[in-house]
Order: sequence, then C-alpha cells, then structure tokens
Amino acid sequence: MGAFVLLWAGLALLPLGARAQVPVPRLPPGRVLASVPPWMATEAPGLDEARDKVLRALELLRRSETGRGLLAELGEGKVLIEADGSLMVTDASRTIFAGANFVADYPEDVLAVQMAHELEHLRQIRLGVTGQGNRALRELAAVLVQTRAWVELGGVTHDEHWAGNGANAWDMTAALDFPDAALAAIAARADHRLDLGESRGRRYWEDIRASDAAWRAAWGARFPRGHGSREAALKALRQAAQFMSPRPAGEITEALPDAIEAAARGEPVPPGLSPIERDILSRVVKSP
Ligand SMILES: [Zn+2]
Repeated sequence: MGAFVLLWAGLALLPLGARAQVPVPRLPPGRVLASVPPWMATEAPGLDEARDKVLRALELLRRSETGRGLLAELGEGKVLIEADGSLMVTDASRTIFAGANFVADYPEDVLAVQMAHELEHLRQIRLGVTGQGNRALRELAAVLVQTRAWVELGGVTHDEHWAGNGANAWDMTAALDFPDAALAAIAARADHRLDLGESRGRRYWEDIRASDAAWRAAWGARFPRGHGSREAALKALRQAAQFMSPRPAGEITEALPDAIEAAARGEPVPPGLSPIERDILSRVVKSP
C-alpha cells in the first residue's frame, strides 16, 4: 500500500507541460503498474508484462532532456502492444506498434532509446513530414535523435549488441564523431537516398541538423568513449556494403568515414574512392 501511495504522490508532483502531456507513471524497474495511461493499449490479453516494460522504458527515457521532449508526442500518438512484431509506426494510425517478443528481447535502457526513435517518427507525422519522398530523411533523423537520447542516458552499449550492430550500436557510436558516415551507412543499408525535394521535409531536416549541431556543442565532452567512433563507422559502412544489391565494385577503405564527413562539410570528394564508396557517400551528400 505504501508503494501505491508513493506512486500517486509521484504523479501529483509531475509538472504539467504546456501541451497537457499525459504523465508516464514513475515506477522502479520490475514493478507492476497501478494505472495505464490512456494512450497505451494491448491488442490481446496476456501482454501486460510487455506493456509494463515499455512503460518503464518510457519512464527511463524521461530522465533525458531529449526524451522528455519526445514524450509530449504521446496522447496524440499512441502505443499498441502486439503479440508479434518489432517496433514500428504507421502514419495513418499515429501509433507505435511494439511486439511483445521484441520487447522481451531488449533491456529497458535499450528499449528507451528505441522508443525515442519511434517517438521522433510520431513527431514527424505531427509536423506533416510524411510521404514517400520523406522516407529517407525521416529514418536518418530518427537515428540522430535516438543517438541524443542514448548519450543523455549514459551511452551504455551492451556487448551482445556491439557484436553485430544490434540496437544500432555501431550506428550510434559512429554518429558521435562521424554523423554523416553513420547516416550514409544507414541509407545504403536500407537503400535510401536523402531527398530534400519536399518543402516540409527539407525544413524539418534543416531544423534537425541545426539542433544536432547545438546538441553536439553541449554534449560533446560527455560522449561515451567505450568504443571508437571511427571503428564503429567503418563497421557500419562495411555492414551496409554487404546489404547492397546490386553491390557496386570495390571495397570500403579506412578513408571513407573522413571522406564522407569532408564532403558533408562541402569539401571536394577525395580522388581514389572506389565505386561502392562513391555510391554510399552519394546517398547523403550531393557531390559538387
Ligand atoms: Zn525508423
């Protein structure tokens, strides 16, 4: 009973945001929830464990500044726990679908970061950044935003994820010092090409890059350094190359991460890149 009273005291003390955000109950890990927010639903009985784990992950996410901003999307956006599936958003439903099996497979801190990614997709929908032409920039922006939440929550990388880019471990570590190389790897892997042809998408992308620059200035000194960012960029780029079909000729060399960052700064693309390196670079940087 004591815990119950504490729970409600905690809810009462939560500041109400300007957008009348529905508070996520504050609970220690492993606790059963006494209340479920109206934006959270399960598609079938028996999914309460996964639902509560997602709610605890969202509570963890609230400890990051980026996460606190993103949680305001819930209310307009919803979360539905399904029996099967990974983690995804559909535009028409404004819903994050979370598969109970996927939820079971990841620690709460990793789920928190993955939910940050999906919440950014909800924000994109609210901003009208939808449609086929914005698919690539939406995905790339969501990875930048989840990287912020990951760093702010302590930048923990689980060994089992580092082994193979699980939970975007390489992508996020690469994005610390080689953000454009990380984005190029993600784009190549998913066969995306950054397209800024739609005005709302372009404005959103410019805003994300500007806020990312400000965020890097504030957080750069606190970036996690358990793994090398350059090493992660190379791993992600080489992994992406394996996914490319048809795969252009050549290999991914150690020169590629720096070449992509230089090109993103508007500097000339260095000579000597292989066809596959030029292809990957061109997915996020327009060659002069
Ligand atoms: Zn996504």
